[in-house]
Amino acid sequence: MEKLIYTGKAKQMWQTDDPDVLRVVYMDQATALNGKKKEHFAGKGAAAKAISDLVFHYLIKHGIPTHFIKQLSPTEDLVKKCDMFPLEFVTRNVIAGHFASRYGLDEGKVLPEPVEETFYKSDQLNDPFINESGTIALGIASHADLEKAWSLSREVNGLLKPLFEKAGMQLVDFKLEFGRLSDGKIVLADEFSPDNCRLWDLKTKHHMDKDVYRRKLADLTTTYDKVLARLQKVVKEEA
Ligand code: ADP
Ligand code: UDP
Repeated sequence: MEKLIYTGKAKQMWQTDDPDVLRVVYMDQATALNGKKKEHFAGKGAAAKAISDLVFHYLIKHGIPTHFIKQLSPTEDLVKKCDMFPLEFVTRNVIAGHFASRYGLDEGKVLPEPVEETFYKSDQLNDPFINESGTIALGIASHADLEKAWSLSREVNGLLKPLFEKAGMQLVDFKLEFGRLSDGKIVLADEFSPDNCRLWDLKTKHHMDKDVYRRKLADLTTTYDKVLARLQKVVKEEA
């Protein structure tokens, strides 16, 4: 019997009969301000899942270990169950979002090298920033775990920046999550969609990510469908 083990801000996680396998359901919902603002968007779950699946396929093809097993339906995937690090690994290529507001900067300048920031995943605490020694002190992860997660994050950035550029988008910043499989291996988990990254149109600099919802700029599902169509075109051309 399947059991709902978690309902998050964008997805539901179901325990399947196999203890090592979860069914993920992408919901037609968007949130901002750590869940304080919430809205229903028809088709958003399928669009985010399709983008994430395409990106995960691309990463797997290029050697990144991930939790992905297979698609079940337009809104559902099977994934390998992980013991998740309660951390958000954020990489920034361009000044935007909280990096701009925190340091009083304008958005848009390309950073001389990617900025890497780790946040402790806790809606209650508002996902506070945490550094390496804090992570170790709290017993969240070891130095080796963090090194592995960051080296995979760098590889992901190296693969996805040019992919999005070919699709006419600047990969401004993104958040990854990692977890440990039952055999101890660390893999990329969760998702990669415009819910967790910033994408700007290369020419117009228009936002093509969740900021269109946060900042009330355009329809969310329509925007995600555009991102998907652009990525599908590039991946097809590469095949
Ligand atoms: P949030 O928890 O931020 O509201 P979601 O709605 O996306 O986010 O919920 C998905 C949850 O499932 C997240 O807490 C994420 O850490 C977790 N998760 C993602 N992939 C896996 C996995 N392979 N195994 C176990 N948990 C996972
Ligand atoms: N991000 C995320 N989940 C969070 C916080 C941030 O996926 O709980 C992503 C966000 O979409 C962006 C990047 O991490 O691509 C950097 O976000 P930032 O710190 O600027 O915060 P935001 O302005 O997005 O709240």
